[in-house]
Amino acid sequence: MIAVTARMEYIMDYKYLSDLLFPNVTMTREELEEKYPPRQLPEGAKVTRFAPSPTGFVHFGGMYQAVVCERLAHQSGGVFYLRIEDTDGQREVSGAAEALIRTLSDYGVNYDEGLVIDDNGELSEKGAYGPYKQSKRAELYHVFAKYLVSEGKAYPCFSTEEELEEIQQADKKAEILATDWHTAAEEKKAAMLAQRQFTIEEVEAHLKAGDPFVIRILADGDPEKKTKFTDLVKGNLEIPENDEDFVLLKSDGIPTYHFAHAIDDHLMRTTHVIRGEDWLPSLSKHIQLFRYLGFKMPKYLHTAQILKADENGGKKKLSKRDMGAKMDDYRQMGYATECVWEYLLTLLNSNFEEWHMQNVDKSYLDFPLNIKKMSVSGCLFDFVKLNDVSKNVLSKMTADEIYDRVTDWASECDPEWAELLTRNPEYTKRIFAIGRGGKKPRKDYATFADVKPLIGFFFDELFSVNVQYDEKYSKSDIKATLTAFRDRYDPDDDTDTWFAAIKDIGESLGYTSNMKEYKADPSKFKGNVADISMFLRVAVTGSLNSPDMYSVMQILGENRVKARISDMIEKL
Ligand code: GLU
Repeated sequence: MIAVTARMEYIMDYKYLSDLLFPNVTMTREELEEKYPPRQLPEGAKVTRFAPSPTGFVHFGGMYQAVVCERLAHQSGGVFYLRIEDTDGQREVSGAAEALIRTLSDYGVNYDEGLVIDDNGELSEKGAYGPYKQSKRAELYHVFAKYLVSEGKAYPCFSTEEELEEIQQADKKAEILATDWHTAAEEKKAAMLAQRQFTIEEVEAHLKAGDPFVIRILADGDPEKKTKFTDLVKGNLEIPENDEDFVLLKSDGIPTYHFAHAIDDHLMRTTHVIRGEDWLPSLSKHIQLFRYLGFKMPKYLHTAQILKADENGGKKKLSKRDMGAKMDDYRQMGYATECVWEYLLTLLNSNFEEWHMQNVDKSYLDFPLNIKKMSVSGCLFDFVKLNDVSKNVLSKMTADEIYDRVTDWASECDPEWAELLTRNPEYTKRIFAIGRGGKKPRKDYATFADVKPLIGFFFDELFSVNVQYDEKYSKSDIKATLTAFRDRYDPDDDTDTWFAAIKDIGESLGYTSNMKEYKADPSKFKGNVADISMFLRVAVTGSLNSPDMYSVMQILGENRVKARISDMIEKL
């Protein structure tokens, strides 16, 4: 039974009060239940939603949740929808909903219903359970607020925003100052109970004067009592009952998160609420609300926070200022969306990589995401692992694919580079084909941005020698190697003949090609064949690392190879 104060219980006609407060609400709960009927879906199909507030960007942690929502819904033949939670007007950034929709679309996180951008670039709705933007749902919230008031489960509170703010501040101060925590709690409770004390005449007078009011729930819980609750990620929990008269509708008629959550997820027939663990402390409020409203509770998955290593060897929350926090930044950094997806899957289920190795030909979208394998306590974000995953993904692309992807990225982020890449597509594709396609492809790019520093030397405009030979090598040996190679280089040689020539040159200068002997006693030689190859690599590519030199020379062509070697000889 609701613990209302004697005064309220004695005089209040709740139905009359609800009509006073919501004279324009004529729709009923029953009508809404009919308008948004239970979905006709196969047994076990999950209905999930991504419900971001439009604050300007999608956070990595948000993407993590969105991927869980998308996978669980679509893996089960269910529905995934997007709801924009714009009840906090002050935090809203204009154009943010559009940006958010574009990010989801860039990453291929496809939803079935929700707010979309139409062909004219305008926001519009798709699906029968809308509106999907909370600011368009005021009417619906008011129907349920009126119902709760009519049942004596919610009541108006005519304090101005300033007064409420003052009460809140005083509350906080009292809590901090109170040496006895219980006293502070008792005082707070007394203040709350005092708010429940009013007469219908007082309400009428306030309304007549046009005073603003909020609607508060009339809490009936005893926090000493705990409700057993199973979260699909966090496991079995004990949630204390709610005894706080929290706000349902703010004075502008806009609902709080709690109220909107209960109504939206009920009417949109969500089966699984997937949200950050920062909402766990509010669960007691939500349990109370669902009970008061007579709604069946959905299942909940409270996802762990995304953490990063901090300077002191500990972990801290990945904040929005951290690199990697904003999903749009990955595009700038040159990460392919599927690389980020696969990385997310490794964070979500640690068996993802193993599965992928056993299912080489399958897409990451075929991976059966398992809730039971999700992290309970926190996921560590790090670029090293992301790069590792990315290198793997990019190494499996064909030369044509990587060509398309890199040029597409460059045309947006580095147009001059795009121009060079596309000047002679066949030439560029031959470069990308080096070391690709075999069983053990080269894993040299983690991002599209890594490509230019590694293959830029193929383009004369970008070629320059940025390293110097180590002083331990004799200049005359380097010169002799370069000269001998240039004079003997025949592009028609196969790899073996080409390499035999390099070994020969080395041997004649006292550099062995027998690595065993070299390792046994390096002092017997000036160096080994790797040093000889390095002399050539620096001259031809300008750097100490490059793809396979035979292929590099084949693609550069005889004239350029010889010209670059001659330039180096001259410089030495
Ligand atoms: N709008 C809430 C947020 O951005 C969503 C929480 C939820 O998914 O219920 O935190």
